[in-house]
Amino acid sequence: SMASPALLMRVVASAYSVAEKAATIVRNVMSAGDLGIVEKTGANDLQTKADRLVQMSICASLARKFPKVTIIGEEELSNDEVTEELIEDGHCEEILKKTCPAQYTGIKEEELVIWVDPLDGTKEYTEGLLDHVTVLIGIAYGGKAIAGVINQPYYNYEAGAGAVLGRTIWGVLGIGAFGFQLTEAPAGKHIIVTTRSHSSTLVNDCISALNPDSVIRVGGAGNKIIQLVEGKASAYVFASPGCKKWDTCAPEAILHAVGGKITDIHGNSFQYNKDVKHMNSAGVLATLRNYDYYASRIPNTVKQSLV
Ligand code: AMP
Ligand code: MG
Ligand code: MG
Repeated sequence: SMASPALLMRVVASAYSVAEKAATIVRNVMSAGDLGIVEKTGANDLQTKADRLVQMSICASLARKFPKVTIIGEEELSNDEVTEELIEDGHCEEILKKTCPAQYTGIKEEELVIWVDPLDGTKEYTEGLLDHVTVLIGIAYGGKAIAGVINQPYYNYEAGAGAVLGRTIWGVLGIGAFGFQLTEAPAGKHIIVTTRSHSSTLVNDCISALNPDSVIRVGGAGNKIIQLVEGKASAYVFASPGCKKWDTCAPEAILHAVGGKITDIHGNSFQYNKDVKHMNSAGVLATLRNYDYYASRIPNTVKQSLV
């Protein structure tokens, strides 16, 4: 008989279905009309009913199947009972059919850390900028982001009747990334994508120093990585603390799976061990191509302000 698929592939296949369930919850909360907004650290740091329900759904669903995996979610939730209707037990068959890269076949549950951002781009979700929203499930091993799922619940929402609403992007290092069309940004143009709702003087000074041809300001770390792999932007530049490990883990895995690069503003890679500090205090620099061009032009004054 066929050997059962490697743990990593089973986790990714389950995360895919769990992220699709999450997307349904994100859409249902919005259409029901009561977002239940709570301010966390302030007016630009929000949590909605969708953030809460989705985190419960993702964490409980994955924990039930993979009880020894460490799962770290963004939201601090009271120990509410997770109702059975939040549990997703399906998986994506197509992912199970892919061959697990040899270096990952021996991974055990206790060696995996899953970083969950139940709803990335919450501020934009509350403002109706719905395609900025993503659900992020990042999978780390040995401190590295090795696999990830990004669901965009409102992909195509302005494409008119007949367009399929929502999509799921997934990737594994050594296999590649799927669910979108990998596209290069326009050659010779410097198009920067950055925050829309968490700007600062430093964020803007850093971008100016790169002499961009244009700047795209949109919400969400997941959304900004999508802009890179679909050729809408050439670099994601965020010279500020504020992004956390759950914001970057899944996007990093997808970007690295297609040959891109993401680091902090100094060029240091992110670590995703379970005990790591959550805040990416030294900002974010990510590209699909030409990483060195942007890295070499980050001003020293900006670097000195972000340690
Ligand atoms: P943005 O590009 O502003 O959408 O930020 C990307 C991710 O980092 C989102 O999950 C934000 O909530 C988070 N983030 C960035 N800056 C901050 C901040 N100053 N306070 C709270 N969250 C932030
Ligand atoms: Mg986020
Ligand atoms: Mg979030």
